Order: sequence, then structure tokens, then C-alpha cells
Amino acid sequence: MEEKIFDTVIIGGGPAGYSAALYAARAGLKVLVLEKFSAGGQMTETPSIENYPGIDEACDGFTLGFKMKSAAERFGAVSQQTEVLSAELTASPKKIVTDIGDFYSKTVIIATGARHRHLGLADEEKLIGRGVGYCAACDGMLYRGKTVAVVGGGNSAASDALLLSKICKKVYLIHRRDTLRAEKIYHEPLMRAENLEFIWNSTVESLEYEAKLKGANIRKVTDGSSRNIELDGLFISIGRTPESDMFVGQLTLDASGYITADETTKTNIDGVFAAGDVRSKPFRQIVTAASDGAVAAHFAEEYISRN
Ligand SMILES: Cc1cc2nc3c(=O)[nH]c(=O)nc-3n(C[C@H](O)[C@H](O)[C@H](O)COP(=O)(O)OP(=O)(O)OC[C@H]3O[C@@H](n4cnc5c(N)ncnc54)[C@H](O)[C@@H]3O)c2cc1C
Repeated sequence: MEEKIFDTVIIGGGPAGYSAALYAARAGLKVLVLEKFSAGGQMTETPSIENYPGIDEACDGFTLGFKMKSAAERFGAVSQQTEVLSAELTASPKKIVTDIGDFYSKTVIIATGARHRHLGLADEEKLIGRGVGYCAACDGMLYRGKTVAVVGGGNSAASDALLLSKICKKVYLIHRRDTLRAEKIYHEPLMRAENLEFIWNSTVESLEYEAKLKGANIRKVTDGSSRNIELDGLFISIGRTPESDMFVGQLTLDASGYITADETTKTNIDGVFAAGDVRSKPFRQIVTAASDGAVAAHFAEEYISRN
């Protein structure tokens, strides 16, 4: 068991995980990163990242993910491709159960991220990065001066539509109800945006494309009628699902399932930290995930020194 005991086991190899690994390894800790797919997390879904500091020309997420992994491994962090199935976070040492065996650690940094909810349309996956997106703050600039639609009625759809109305020629906001769920603070600015058109009581039925998205067929739920709109981009903003199920009953989660932790990334269990998109926080980006990772590593090191 000795060789399977680490100072820090990091669950998830996205930007939060590998930033934590870099800082923890540079602090001299024995670090293991467990990632079920490949380095980079959600970043691997995007062909172009322009808003991570230090990137002087657009970089694809896959490449950035591998650079983050290499940077951490250069200082001694070890990566293992495996899915974490469960964790005993109050045990001493903490036990992490994976599909290739158990690992033990003094501290655990949870960086399992979140998934954008998809509409489940035919060809939706195929068109990601070719017109279909899930994050206006990430990809909005790619549609400067173009026509886009946002699907959703909550705060993130409202804030995406507002942001896009400042960049794009025309923005449709498609919502299946006749009022927004978004907080009142968004309503007036949305109504005032001259290039924004609401399409109420409607859902996207199918996508039209050649090499890229060309348009969407919209169905009115009240009378079943259909219409087609021409689009350069479609932002699906119907919420995210945090990857936190396996921690239910051990960690405190907020109403949406995110792990409750403040800027220190400390959870309700000593020696357990939540970094990146899986943490309750107002803004989920690569840069904020990387920032969390550094903070989590700092407090993991402090916990180990103290204990
Ligand atoms: C299409 C798209 C484009 C985006 N574009 C941008 C952009 O341009 N700029 C920007 O700043 N942000 C962008 N984002 C958002 C950004 O990618 C995320 O905010 C960021 O990746 C979050 O990092 P994270 O490390 O917290 O989580 P994630 O990136 O979600 O990584 C979590 C990792 O944990 C792994 N994992 C989960 N559960 C387990 C388990 N049980 N066992 C082992 N491994 C597990 C996952 O496989 C994943 O690799 C984009 C997101 C998407 C989806």
C-alpha cells in the first residue's frame, strides 16, 4: 500500500486539476492526478481558446490541456487514466476507489468539473465548435457582427443573450415558456436591446447545416407551428450538471449540486478541497478553474504541514 499513499490525490485532469497538480508538485508534494478521459476536461471540446492569458494566438483546448499536464508532470506529478468510482473522504488516510484499484492520500482535491446540458438534437454534438456552443463568454467573439440564437430562460441564458447583443448583429432568445425564469435584473436590459428578438413558447426542433450551422427549425409549443431562422451560431444555455454525485452524503452541496466551498476551496471535510467548475461559484472559465487549482494546492500543503 505504501507506494499508493500520496500527499494529494486530484480527481479530474481539467485546468483546475492540472493547475492544482502543478502548484502541489512544485511545493514538493507527492501528487497523483486521476482522469477518466484525457487531459484538458471540457477544454478538449473547443477548437479555439482566446481568453486564457498568455495565449497570443487562438489555441485548441486539446493542446492547452496537454500543455497543462506536461507542466505539472515536469515537476513530478503523476497522472493515471482511470475513473474514480467512490471516495472515503473522512478516512485517514483518505481512500479513493477506482476501476484499477484503491489509492490513499492525506488530502484530496476534487476537480471533476461540470457538463453543459445538451438539447439532445440530432447532429448537435457534431456541430459543437461549428456553430453550436454552450458558453457565450467563451465563444461569443467568434460571432461578432453575425446572427445567433440563445436557447433558455434562466440567468445564464439571459446573461448570454445580453452579452451577445453587444457583439452580434442580431440575437434571438428562444424560450419554451412565455416569461423568463431569469432574475428581474436582466429583464429591462434585454427588453431595451434593439437587436434582440424573443421567440416565446418555442423549442428548437432541428438544426440545418452544411459544413457549419446554417439555421434552426423552431416549433411553437402552443399551436405546433414551425418556422425556420437563419443562424450563424446557436448557444444552448439550459444549465449545467456538476460531476458531484459520488460525494452526496459526504460533502455539502448547494441546491444545484455544486460542492459548497468559498474562495479557499475548503469543503466541509478537513483536507478535502473543491476546485474549478464543480465548486459553487459565480463564473466558470478556464482561468477561474486554474485559479482555484492553485488555491486548493496551497491549502492542501498548509493542511499537511499543520497535521
Ligand atoms: C465547448 C466549450 C468551450 C469552452 N470554451 C472556453 C473558452 O474559450 N474559455 C474559457 O475560459 N472557458 C471555456 N469553457 C469553459 C471551461 O472549459 C471550463 O470552465 C473549465 O474547463 C473547467 O475546468 P475544470 O478543471 O473545473 O473542469 P473540467 O474541464 O470539466 O474537467 C474535469 C475533468 O474531470 C474528469 N472527471 C470527472 N469525473 C471524474 C471521475 N469520476 N474520475 C476521473 N475523472 C473525472 C473529467 O473527465 C474532466 O476531464 C468552455 C467549455 C466548453 C464545454
